[in-house]
Amino acid sequence: MSRDWSKLQIVCYPDPVLRKVCRPVEAFDADLAALAERMLELMRAEQGVGLAAPQVGLPLRLFVCNVTGDLKDDMILVNPEIRETFGDAESQEGCLSIPDVTVTVRRAQRCRIVASDLTGRPIEADGADLLARCWQHELDHLNGRLIIDAMSETDRIANRKTLRELERKHKSSRGVVAL
Ligand code: ZN
Repeated sequence: MSRDWSKLQIVCYPDPVLRKVCRPVEAFDADLAALAERMLELMRAEQGVGLAAPQVGLPLRLFVCNVTGDLKDDMILVNPEIRETFGDAESQEGCLSIPDVTVTVRRAQRCRIVASDLTGRPIEADGADLLARCWQHELDHLNGRLIIDAMSETDRIANRKTLRELERKHKSSRGVVAL
């Protein structure tokens, strides 16, 4: 019987799970497939283009993404690694775990990703622009890195109030079980 993931919710900064170096997925079973489905559902509901497992409170190396909104472009990447990167580009990014914060982030313009699919079979794909940016953002999540980690002075000032407010909210909700 697979676990019931329906109660999973997106966790927000500064929840400590967002700072964990996530562990590899080892079981490619029905549970994993159900989890990925739930993550896609949450991502879509929040109009995001990507969502990583730690963002739903699970420190596992798994993320889902879809940068076009077209169902056929759903991607589920298990134990992903970025292999080759080309060029670089700066663009503004948000994060479903850090609502109302926007940061300019410099990333590779193109990259190759290798991962496993839900059955453990290897996947390899090349991406550019938004897709490459999304992969790099989500992979950062699996290593406990967030877009607020390397903010310019301008972004720091612009986001200071919102970040403080999120920290305050987190403090006052401690002790409440999120799952
Ligand atoms: Zn994010």
